Amino acid sequence: MSYNQPLGGNEMPRFAGPATMMRLPVQDDAAGLDACFVGVPLDIGTSNRAGARFGPRQIRAESSMIRPYNMSSGISPFDTMQVADIGDVPINTFNLLKSVDIIEDFYDDIVRHGAAPFTMGGDHTIVLPILRALKKKYGPLGVVHVDAHADVNDHMFGEKVAHGTPFRRAVEENLVDPARVVQIGLRATGYSDDDFNWPREQGMRVVQAEQCWHKSLSPLMEEVRAQMAGGPVYISFDIDGLDPAYAPGTGTVEIGGLTTIQGLEIVRGCRGLEIIGGDLVEVSPPYDPSGNTALLGANLLYEMLCVHPKATPRNL
Ligand code: MN
Ligand code: MN
Repeated sequence: MSYNQPLGGNEMPRFAGPATMMRLPVQDDAAGLDACFVGVPLDIGTSNRAGARFGPRQIRAESSMIRPYNMSSGISPFDTMQVADIGDVPINTFNLLKSVDIIEDFYDDIVRHGAAPFTMGGDHTIVLPILRALKKKYGPLGVVHVDAHADVNDHMFGEKVAHGTPFRRAVEENLVDPARVVQIGLRATGYSDDDFNWPREQGMRVVQAEQCWHKSLSPLMEEVRAQMAGGPVYISFDIDGLDPAYAPGTGTVEIGGLTTIQGLEIVRGCRGLEIIGGDLVEVSPPYDPSGNTALLGANLLYEMLCVHPKATPRNL
């Protein structure tokens, strides 16, 4: 079995060639894949600054420097996994609810092929149809959710589906097992205590940003691994969980957030769990002139691939 490899920098300059995720081959669907990168260019669920529709393209462009071997963990995902970029979900940019159905159908197909989806968002609305599709195969999921916001609003402007509501819907629809959900990085201002207490009342663990300040999150992740053990786990990473000093290119920025290093500790700390997919959402390139936010997003998606159970250390 030969596995797809990212196009190397000695074969084609890293600034050249088609901008696929990590310069991997493209294919039309997830047939034969262990994992796929997929874009969801949707931002019509956004409440403030839009632009996440351009996220998948910019994340792909900024992924061109990522090399296959993880120098930290020794993991080399492309030695043991078949991975490709399967392009973007053809959403209907004029209709959010139709788009949500289109996304669910698209992920039903990925799940049918047995591939783990690693998604380039897109605003956070997209996690709802993704969880709907995954739940059909796996049952209620554990979720590691990194975000400045709980995303458990009952509605936004009267709408039940928007980027600030997906985790309330996920609980109501039994897509997640609340005892196996952790939300990390929540902070800033809200309307009332209820914004963070509602998830706690459901049994979810909420780790506010202040509990993360000035420390390594590796001990927290040890607890999270104990909390998540024994079942499938999905990673949903809203880039606004990180501080705007690191990730300014997003729609609803909040100060006092996590560092890049803490973001890496969270994702790397998922090693050993039954990771079945993940997303990196809310990168908004129009607010990201340096490209650093998309660069962060691309690397965090690579790190998610590296904690998939089929990714193994090369020198084990
Ligand atoms: Mn979010
Ligand atoms: Mn957020």
